[in-house]
Amino acid sequence: YEAKKGGGSVAAYDSARDDASTDQLTLLAELREALAVDDQLVLALQPAVDLATGAPTGVEALVRWAHPRRGLLTPAEFIRPVEHSEQLGAFTRYILDKALAVAAGWARDGLDVPISVNVSARSLLDPRLPAEIGEALRRHQVPPRRLVLEITETVVMSELEVIDEVLGALRAMGVQIAVDDFGTGFSSLTFLTRVPVDELKVDRSFVIRMADSPEAAAIVRTTVGLAHELGLRVVAEGVETAEQRLALAELGCTAAQGYHFFKPMPADKISTVLGSLLDSATANVFPLRADG
Ligand code: C2E
Ligand code: MG
Ligand code: MG
Ligand code: MG
Repeated sequence: YEAKKGGGSVAAYDSARDDASTDQLTLLAELREALAVDDQLVLALQPAVDLATGAPTGVEALVRWAHPRRGLLTPAEFIRPVEHSEQLGAFTRYILDKALAVAAGWARDGLDVPISVNVSARSLLDPRLPAEIGEALRRHQVPPRRLVLEITETVVMSELEVIDEVLGALRAMGVQIAVDDFGTGFSSLTFLTRVPVDELKVDRSFVIRMADSPEAAAIVRTTVGLAHELGLRVVAEGVETAEQRLALAELGCTAAQGYHFFKPMPADKISTVLGSLLDSATANVFPLRADG
């Protein structure tokens, strides 16, 4: 994309690239500061719900950067450079620690809901990760099964062996693994035969196109069937309408997440929402059929 930005000439290309790398250096220097303080990297939390009962099946932690100069940044504005920097490990630990602190609060409130944390595949190349996560779980007194790691399967085959071992160790501890954006990576199916997982997340792009693309609908149906056959949970991402929710339920999908249910919300709101979701799920007042 740098070539596109720079237009046709070589000179323009070079200066665009220089600007980009200066920006990245600034960003990474600022990230180092953000990781040293407590209030810049914050988690937005989004529940996923059971389509039949309305009960929360989990809550995903989505990072935001309250940047002192640039305002609130979404992951699209900073994750890539972080993933390719030496700060990835520190970033991953920081996010996991914040997420486990939130989950520890729920446990104190008697809310038994797992927290899902997005983890860049590249941070799974670090063989120290399982021990570090084990230590963080003990420190926060969160049972390992309450932690779900969401991995996007853009893993290259040569790295699969290391990742395989790291995920195996985490799973042996009781931590759960989800494949994020399922169906969009290059090696989805091979990934499943190599790495033990607990959950598939149907990518939002298929949910959006489901209604007018038979291909997208077939992919959703097949993913749901595959999950059932392998004994995995399946969660549809990015559900925005009652129609999508109904169509997903008809395809056999059991859980979903998206603006139709909840937008990502600040940590201080989530306990109340979870509490009332659990109450209404028990009372079974969640509307099972969408009627507008
Ligand atoms: P993801 O894990 O697939 O997360 C889903 C994204 O869709 C989130 O965007 C969420 O806010 C958004 N979303 C949820 N429901 C809806 C909906 O109904 N409609 C639409 N249009 N969007 C919806 P967000 O928060 O900007 O995150 C984007 C990506 O950044 C995530 O995709 C994930 O891959 C990555 N990410 C987020 N937090 C972290 C993190 O802490 N660490 C790492 N490594 N990556 C993260
Ligand atoms: Mg995710
Ligand atoms: Mg996703
Ligand atoms: Mg996605």
